[in-house]
Amino acid sequence: MKTAYIVSTGTELLLGNTMDTNAEYLSRELSAMGFKVIGRTTVGDDREMIKRALRTGYELAELVVCTGGLGPTLDDLSREAAAEVLNLPLEHSEPEMERIRDYFARRRREMPDSNRRQAMFPAGARILVNRVGTASGFMVGQNGRTLVMLPGPPREMEAVFKEGLKPMLRDMIRRSERVVLTRTIKTMGLGESQVESLLAEVIADPEGCSIALLAKDGEVHIRVTREGASDSETERILDSVIGRMYGKLGDNIYGEGDETLPGVVVRLLCDKGNTVALAESCTGGLVAKMITDIPGSSAVLWGGTVSYSNDAKTRILGVSEETLKRYGAVSPETAREMARGMRNLAGSTFGLSLTGIAGPEGGTDEKPVGLVYLGMATAGGEETRELRLLGGRDGIRTLAAKTALDWLRRTLERE
Ligand code: AMP
Ligand code: MG
Repeated sequence: MKTAYIVSTGTELLLGNTMDTNAEYLSRELSAMGFKVIGRTTVGDDREMIKRALRTGYELAELVVCTGGLGPTLDDLSREAAAEVLNLPLEHSEPEMERIRDYFARRRREMPDSNRRQAMFPAGARILVNRVGTASGFMVGQNGRTLVMLPGPPREMEAVFKEGLKPMLRDMIRRSERVVLTRTIKTMGLGESQVESLLAEVIADPEGCSIALLAKDGEVHIRVTREGASDSETERILDSVIGRMYGKLGDNIYGEGDETLPGVVVRLLCDKGNTVALAESCTGGLVAKMITDIPGSSAVLWGGTVSYSNDAKTRILGVSEETLKRYGAVSPETAREMARGMRNLAGSTFGLSLTGIAGPEGGTDEKPVGLVYLGMATAGGEETRELRLLGGRDGIRTLAAKTALDWLRRTLERE
């Protein structure tokens, strides 16, 4: 946040004759614009004190706004104090001189010589023209700091602030507000290099976004970050890049941000009023655990079995002994019968089964460690899938469980 410091000058303010309404006005306006007003000082018409106050403000804040002391009389010292603090010479401005002469001419008054001082401004200053009085303000920027001097009479100060200063301060805030926006999209079922090659075109033209891939447990997360001004433009660019990614990755994307694969599955089941029952062998209840981790899953999960032994597969799920003998427990045929049996038992929309070899022992050449069959039973019949997973026992079980969930997700999304 940009910081601001306010200096009020005028001995009358210190004597308590005049309320320091300028400081209150500026505090209100600057805060509302998004500045953090970090301090305020009031000093009398004393050149040294004004310089000290300006220096303090200049040291502490990015913006210093000082009011008062720009008049033509001897006790108006702010102009000189500012020039000294900034280490800039005062230079004559002919257009301002004209304007002041005109101010008097229109009132049929002679311009006193002392008013010439009011046409003097620090070299390089931007003049903030006063349309309601003689004392114009000014603004000087140096090394990312800005010093603004405004006239003291509240009516003039407010006019100069509104017409001259406020639009420039708004620009200053807009330019300074840099934001970093991040969105993460999550895919399941693709390898990191697969994701990368599908996204090749987007990665080659990321519209100023940085793109990072993070792979974990069968998922690849794509984090897209864009730095920019805090307007909707940055968000629009991020939307555009992510939109292009959706085009390339399609339904490999299961969600965004905080979403999890089981969370999405539960939400989809809920939305459709569907239920699922699980027949798990090699995952030992891991799918059930993942689903029941999600609050509200009771509405969609009927329950399931850890049907690990052949006996359990037969007696609970009705897998035929013949199938087990002929094809083995790890086979598409067994997965199919497990899913069908589970669905029949539960009366659920889906029956989902998993059977496989998690290792490290138990693999053969024909049926190696990591071979897993998934079965899905619906009203339309059963389907099976073969997975050949790599990894340790934990990794294989986790991947098998998540792949089964992802299959269910894709099925639900297609419906
Ligand atoms: P100056 O700019 O010092 O010539 O101020 C002219 C008049 O403006 C003063 O006599 C006050 O009446 C008024 N004034 C100056 N500063 C303030 C302030 N901070 N708050 C309210 N009125 C002010
Ligand atoms: Mg004064």
